[in-house]
Amino acid sequence: YLAKENRTGVEFYVPGKDRNSPERLSLLGDLRRAIDAGELELHYQPKVNLADGRVEGMEALVRWSHPERGPISPADFVPLAEQSYLMRELTHIVLRRALDQAARWWRDGLEVPVSVNVSARDLLDTGLPEQLEAGLAELGLPARAIQLEVTERILMTEQAFTAETIGTLARLGVELALDDFGTGYSSLVRLQRLPVSEVKIDRSFIRRIAESREDERIVRSIVDLVRSLGLRSVAEGVESHEIAVRLRKLGCQAGQGWWLAEPMAADEATVWLRARLSSAFLDRPRDGARL
Ligand code: C2E
Ligand code: MG
Ligand code: MG
Ligand code: MG
Repeated sequence: YLAKENRTGVEFYVPGKDRNSPERLSLLGDLRRAIDAGELELHYQPKVNLADGRVEGMEALVRWSHPERGPISPADFVPLAEQSYLMRELTHIVLRRALDQAARWWRDGLEVPVSVNVSARDLLDTGLPEQLEAGLAELGLPARAIQLEVTERILMTEQAFTAETIGTLARLGVELALDDFGTGYSSLVRLQRLPVSEVKIDRSFIRRIAESREDERIVRSIVDLVRSLGLRSVAEGVESHEIAVRLRKLGCQAGQGWWLAEPMAADEATVWLRARLSSAFLDRPRDGARL
């Protein structure tokens, strides 16, 4: 079941001990079935401009409801899949669903980019840009309809292995966002070399910016750095009005979080999008602090 040693030197941290424990193997088996049975679903969480409340995109987040165990967090099963051949299939299915959803929204005039999370290992797969390019063409979508999010760990991998895929994506015009920024040991040189257009600041820094001067300083310097590189900054985990106001003052462009909007099933997300893109919302004079 489990993949052989990775040739890239990419190490994935997985909670728990033994990669081959019966429990993990049985969960992987269940995931395999869930993928085949079409049990995985996508929810969508808006990304919102902190100055005027406009929606900048929708992030697709995979959901799995296990028949016996109930909902299992992607934070638990994605790292497991990452160690096996299942990751490729998981990404394939998620991308297909996200493309279909984007096509539905764009057909209805709800033209926002849909972001898909991919693992660093997915970028070793040159089939990924091919799937994307074919999917976009088939559905008549422009490249800006899809964005990919990859965790900061990509900066620590051997770039030679991923450069080809990333280069192809860039030529396609598909934007790349760097997810969970601040949690790894990024080299700034590498950040500058990667064709990313957006940096998502990890929520561990955002959570306490309203109380902690130090956390606020860290976020401020990340936002400044990101701006100086000509990139957009997005804050994760905006859980309160106060946090949104602080971020806006720091010049952070966009945010995601429960206070702004929670992840929603497709139907609910469609209703939300329609309201947010309606003239009733867009024409109203807006106090950015209240969004
Ligand atoms: P992420 O990409 O950083 O996604 C953000 C996570 O934060 C999501 O958790 C989201 O539900 C959660 N979140 C949003 N707003 C708030 C908030 O205000 N407070 C707090 N505490 N949390 C908030 P989720 O959906 O459980 O996903 C966890 C991680 O699993 C994601 O982190 C991503 O790395 C991974 N993941 C999710 N879906 C996929 C997928 O389709 N493919 C891959 N490769 N990874 C995925
Ligand atoms: Mg993400
Ligand atoms: Mg993130
Ligand atoms: Mg995160």
